[in-house]
Amino acid sequence: MQILFEAFEAAPFMKTGGLADVAGSMPPAVKALGADIRVMLPKSSLIPAVYAEKMTYITSFFLNVAWRNEYCGVFSLEHNGITFYFIDNEKYFYRGQLYGELDDAERMAFFSKACLEACLHLNDFAPDIIHCNDWHTALTPVFLREFYRDTKLGKARTVYTIHNLKFQGLYDPYIIGDVLGLHNTPADAQLRQSRGYSTCCNFMLGACLYSDRITTVSPTYAEEIATEYFGEGLDWLFRKRKDRLQGILNGIDYTDWNPETDPYLTANYSIDNFREEKVKNKTALQADLGLEVNPDIPMFAIISRLTEQKGLDLVTYLLPHITSSNMQLVVLGIGDNRYEEAFSWYSNLNSDKISAQIKFDNSLSHRLYAAADVMLIPSRFEPCGLTQLISMRYGTLPLVRETGGLKDTVDNTTGFSFVTFNADDMKYALDCALDVWNNKREEWEEKQEKGMKSDFSWDTSAQTYLKLYQDMLC
Ligand code: ADP
Repeated sequence: MQILFEAFEAAPFMKTGGLADVAGSMPPAVKALGADIRVMLPKSSLIPAVYAEKMTYITSFFLNVAWRNEYCGVFSLEHNGITFYFIDNEKYFYRGQLYGELDDAERMAFFSKACLEACLHLNDFAPDIIHCNDWHTALTPVFLREFYRDTKLGKARTVYTIHNLKFQGLYDPYIIGDVLGLHNTPADAQLRQSRGYSTCCNFMLGACLYSDRITTVSPTYAEEIATEYFGEGLDWLFRKRKDRLQGILNGIDYTDWNPETDPYLTANYSIDNFREEKVKNKTALQADLGLEVNPDIPMFAIISRLTEQKGLDLVTYLLPHITSSNMQLVVLGIGDNRYEEAFSWYSNLNSDKISAQIKFDNSLSHRLYAAADVMLIPSRFEPCGLTQLISMRYGTLPLVRETGGLKDTVDNTTGFSFVTFNADDMKYALDCALDVWNNKREEWEEKQEKGMKSDFSWDTSAQTYLKLYQDMLC
């Protein structure tokens, strides 16, 4: 079985969030089960030179997308036992950022079509399954059915995974003809969605209608998106396609995220010695960040995109309570100005208690997972969430809101939780955590041990994906 896995980001090449972790770690796990799975990514200027320099040129061609005729190169690199193909077009992919460009619709349309066209130029690759991810590659199943039925890809089946329903790729419908070249095809009508008083072109709607199967990244989120509150305007579709929708929990890369061997840590530790060793990471980080160096003060952490989704309104509301409690808070993240400013402001006022690290920093994230005692993840919604899984592996207790993947992976034997999106409910959970830290240290360590022993590797989920692929070919 040959599988094409398309994504717009993958660790370690370029990363803005969890999609990169998944695209970097799920394919090797599926390959270990015997499938020939290969990944296609944009050849972005953000890829570190150490990888870019090792890429091999494979082929190039010109690709039509609507009236445009653009150069498209294909490069490859073996990494982690996987063949990664990189789609090259400097006009589209040599930008200062991955997303947020004015011509994102055109860039994603080009990438989604180029992945299919590239397969036609690869002699040893004719995927039986094409697995697309998020809105960036949502047009592939549409292009496949409208333009590639008479090629060697004609019989390929498609899986579409939603990592975050919030971002669907909504544009003025004029782009259906002018940018996507889908005028006078059935897709012209299928991509259109009424929203309020206007009609838009919705990339993700296209993927959900044209794919053979839809998956999302946790069983609870798969149920939630079929409701109006979480459905982001597409809940009707998920109710209608319920038999085609499945929630498969993400895993994490157990080699990358391993406190026993993690090269970024001050002190490595395992399930056998975390009680003595983990704290050395905390005191070292306290010193580096200018916090009070004291092993007895619990360190709470946030490692996140600083956006509304992540429930940061609850945390900023609680900042006065946090500064008056015997605890420290380290925030590592970038995102909306209002959160960056709130955390920076409080950190300036209470520099021995709160540290705001407003940046994307992979090495600091590793150190913080190991140093922290509690990870705060009070999300409004959370398709899967990886930070709670990494935290548990590092003996750091997650404090979560019970939604999506957080609900599926954390319970009161491995962390702390609250249900309603309300700052006082979160405060109650936070105070519970402080109480257990101060008065019930044995219970704390039991939670740590249970979390560290839990299996959130890709082993189980990779088997579920493989079974899904096999079922689709029957
Ligand atoms: P999302 O995909 O919604 O951003 P996830 O929890 O699925 O959230 O994945 C977030 C990933 O990005 C985790 O691996 C986390 O460690 C990482 N991450 C988030 N913010 C930062 C940051 N500022 N610096 C380093 N890593 C970060």
